[in-house]
Amino acid sequence: SLQDRLEGAFKNLKGEGRITDLNIASTIKEIRRALVDADVNYKIAKEFTDVVREKAQGEKVINAISPGQLMVKIVKDELVSLMGGEVAEFNSKGAPAVILIAGLQGSGKTTFSGKLASFLKNQKKLSPLLVAADVYRPAAMEQLRVLGGQIGVDVHIEEENKNPVEIAQNAIREARSKNKNVVIIDTAGRLAVDEAMMTEVANIKSAVNPNEILFVVDSMTGQDAVNTAKAFNDRLDFSGVVLTKLDGDTRGGAALSIKYTVNKPIKFISSGEKLDTIDIFYPERMAQRILGMGDITTLVEKAQAQFDEEEAKRLEKKIRKNQFDFDDFRTQLEQIKRMGNLKDLIGMIPGVGKAIKDINISDDAFKGIEAMIGSMTPAERANPDLIDTSRRNRIAKGSGKTIADVNAFMKQFEQMRELMKMMNKMPMGKMMPGGFG
Ligand code: GDP
Ligand code: MG
Repeated sequence: SLQDRLEGAFKNLKGEGRITDLNIASTIKEIRRALVDADVNYKIAKEFTDVVREKAQGEKVINAISPGQLMVKIVKDELVSLMGGEVAEFNSKGAPAVILIAGLQGSGKTTFSGKLASFLKNQKKLSPLLVAADVYRPAAMEQLRVLGGQIGVDVHIEEENKNPVEIAQNAIREARSKNKNVVIIDTAGRLAVDEAMMTEVANIKSAVNPNEILFVVDSMTGQDAVNTAKAFNDRLDFSGVVLTKLDGDTRGGAALSIKYTVNKPIKFISSGEKLDTIDIFYPERMAQRILGMGDITTLVEKAQAQFDEEEAKRLEKKIRKNQFDFDDFRTQLEQIKRMGNLKDLIGMIPGVGKAIKDINISDDAFKGIEAMIGSMTPAERANPDLIDTSRRNRIAKGSGKTIADVNAFMKQFEQMRELMKMMNKMPMGKMMPGGFG
């Protein structure tokens, strides 16, 4: 994922607790490449990374997190703000409110019209009327009729009238007389941007004065989506974008590119053929999707809040001098526990987190480990080399564990110290605050 790549890219980053210009260029290049892979337009990816570079420079790295993780957060925050930051308003107030749906053929307009009607009916308690203004294909009208039936929403269809503008006007009249408070007009699309199609939708627009003009675009179409969006916006000055087919394996980069290019908010996303697969667009969620990163930001924020920089520095020094002992180990365990879910957090703890992860101590093992450390004398904790066979026996008895458990734990601890020693010798270990990043 992009997240892994960012953290990977940052393995080379030199710096003393700061993200610096040194080596930042290669990281920026990596981010740019990853964005392009996620379907973000190259020029946009470039401008985006320029902004990220500026933000990242001089940013202080908290010891508890690696520069890579901090960079992920900067990138994510910037993605969110670029995609509008907040959830966009959707204007469905009117008597009736008029929503015009436009886009290429196959983009998902008719399906979305049905989903939106269902959403407004069930979530907003509105009374919608669907309008079949795609007059060229009888199948298109039939498709809308079927959808309307499935969701219990009336559909305005005029088989004999071939003028979409008149159909839209008649539908609004019908809505008024039947007390429908929102009219959703599904229009005809072509396979490519086409003057006749644009003129037709523009004519409907001027005749019905819509509250919202939603441009529907297939997120799987990548770069083409951006050009299409631009063509429709130049002509229709639409009020919002609907991204469809997000259930496919698209990374969602189209969302970023479109918002950036036409500067219109994405209002809804559609992610399936079922009628309830419609969602309000949340920039935050899309940013996470583009990064492929789950909950990393939350984790980073928790780490930032919980970790004591001084403690991390102290620990770092001890690791450097190969003096890491059971007291340090216990302190680290306590910090890990304060932060909540062990499984999620364990990889983030400087030094210890990585080591524990590598030697694969499971969640359950922590109770036993704490009991064993608790059964050691202060002298033993501060000097693990003291712990011989008879002391191991005593620790086993005191902690209610077997001698085999104690031996296994001592062995793991030794492996961990070996690992720390090794990493200290590697250049990376010296660069990362807290030891191993
Ligand atoms: P229109 O030509 O713009 O009206 O597009 P349609 O609504 O007829 O959709 C074209 C095809 O895409 C149909 O087969 C739909 O079932 C499918 N489709 C629409 N929206 C989605 C979606 O969000 N996910 C998936 N997987 N398919 C969709
Ligand atoms: Mg259609």
